[in-house]
Amino acid sequence: MDEPVLGIDLGTTNSEAAFVDDSYARIIGGDREGILPSCVGINSDGELVVGPEARNQAAAWPERTVVSVKRRMGSDKLCDLGGEAYSPSEISSVILKELKRRAENEIGSTINHAVITVPAYFTDAQRQATKEAGDIAGLNVVRIINEPTAAALAYKETDEQGTKHILVYDLGGGTFDVSIVKIEEQVVEVLSSTGDNMLGGDDFDERIVRFLTSHIRKEYKIDVSEDAGVAARLKNAAERAKIELSGEYYTRIEEPYITEDIHLTVELSRDDFEKMVMKDLEKTMVAVTNALNDAKLTSKDIDRILLVGGSTRIPVISTMLKEKLGIKPSLEIDPDLCVALGAGIQAGREMGKEDSGVLIDITPYTFGTSAVKDLGWDVIPDVFVPLIEKNTKLPASRTEPFRTMFDQQEQVQIDVFQGENANALDNILIGSYEFDLSQTAAGSIITLKYDLDLNGILKLEAVEKDTGRKLNAVIDNVFSETSESRLQRSRKKMRALGGFGAASDLPEDTEAGDQNASGISGIPQEIADTIELAREKLDSAHQDDKDEIINLTEDIQTALQAGDFEKAEKLSAELEDILFYID
Ligand code: AMP
Repeated sequence: MDEPVLGIDLGTTNSEAAFVDDSYARIIGGDREGILPSCVGINSDGELVVGPEARNQAAAWPERTVVSVKRRMGSDKLCDLGGEAYSPSEISSVILKELKRRAENEIGSTINHAVITVPAYFTDAQRQATKEAGDIAGLNVVRIINEPTAAALAYKETDEQGTKHILVYDLGGGTFDVSIVKIEEQVVEVLSSTGDNMLGGDDFDERIVRFLTSHIRKEYKIDVSEDAGVAARLKNAAERAKIELSGEYYTRIEEPYITEDIHLTVELSRDDFEKMVMKDLEKTMVAVTNALNDAKLTSKDIDRILLVGGSTRIPVISTMLKEKLGIKPSLEIDPDLCVALGAGIQAGREMGKEDSGVLIDITPYTFGTSAVKDLGWDVIPDVFVPLIEKNTKLPASRTEPFRTMFDQQEQVQIDVFQGENANALDNILIGSYEFDLSQTAAGSIITLKYDLDLNGILKLEAVEKDTGRKLNAVIDNVFSETSESRLQRSRKKMRALGGFGAASDLPEDTEAGDQNASGISGIPQEIADTIELAREKLDSAHQDDKDEIINLTEDIQTALQAGDFEKAEKLSAELEDILFYID
């Protein structure tokens, strides 16, 4: 098709449109600004409004506003809007028309065709009603595709060849779906889909609202649960707190004058929030098992987990999925935009652009810190605790709590590591800071927050929770600095093995004239000979031995630099043992 085709995610809470140009699908209006609340209303001047304006008036004028129309699609339930009755398709067409208008402004040409996504469980009647909404909006719906299929398409370009099974876990504001999708060559097929269309972020907000009303009851001896005005404010505060807890470990909910004389101020931790929603989340894990059973697969068959919907930003969901399926969910694409981008890719295909994908900005490395793990009967030092995981979409922000080990502890050392190894010391140290504490009791909480932006600027903030005492630091260029660190490690290895890198590869501080084969001056000849032998035998060594040889040689060099000849000799003997078996 020569004419432009728009990809549309017509969602329950929000809708977005995506378009392919330069072979990449992008969100019309920009990633965040392009999100259009799926709300339609009549304002106080009697004008039709859509998006943020309609959403903002929903609490004050429910009779003049329609929200979540998607739930009525395909039914004969009419929507009342300012005294007039409209079909769900008519209301949805207002949202589609707005997306079409925005896209036409941005692209600079008329758009008459669209690909629209629907949940996999939508019946024929619901799909037909969606098509009809497109027709009313002036869009010829060239294809209706399933939301999990669209999500898989958005990720497909980053995937390898061969048959893949993808689990799409979609938790939005009011609905939950889990689907198993099979990708084979160009064909994407939904093998199973199940869920609960009455479970989502709104329920989590409700749990926090209940916690707040019971706090007010206990603290101020009044019951605010019947007051609609207070309820609306508490609901907004609850949602803000919930969202904050996806990045922070603690949040303070503050609502001045929640009643005439009550200033609500209460702290909520991520742990407490997780306890509130755990039953709901466990239900979603049962649905994951059911979806696997329906598809006649086991967790071992799943190659990827995709997260869709705003509520999947709750960190414990990723943890639970990883525990259940043994793989970490993919984090590359914004869970709010994944379906729209997939619809955009399908729209691109309808336009004959087969190879379009999604342009994604992700961190290529994991950034974390080191901590001591207390098992009760033993402690493990130098455990790597990732904060921002490899392949997370940028910008990214994450907070983790840590506890002090001793009473009156004066200081903690905060090391910033880049790498993927469970032992922090096997990763690359990119920053180290000393944080003075106010000598509180053992077990006091220190929260550590990393903010990583697109330019590779890593901001770190440590906060002593009890006192609010802070440490702030910024590490620039973590991506390029990291590759430089890698390079340095390689150079070091080459230097240790002597003669392996060209002289120009060696750092300027290397005094080539004063070296023996080990690359270090003034070392015992026996050790130098062993290193020389290692250099000669390295090529013919088995890969495992190769790694061992390089590591030992590096360790010998470190020992020699530290003047620890005894250790160097011991390591050299180990190295000799390995070399003995290599021809
Ligand atoms: P959706 O229906 O996919 O647009 O998802 C909307 C739901 O996601 C709402 O309940 C939001 O409160 C929730 N949500 C958005 N961002 C976050 C976040 N960072 N953490 C937790 N929930 C979120």
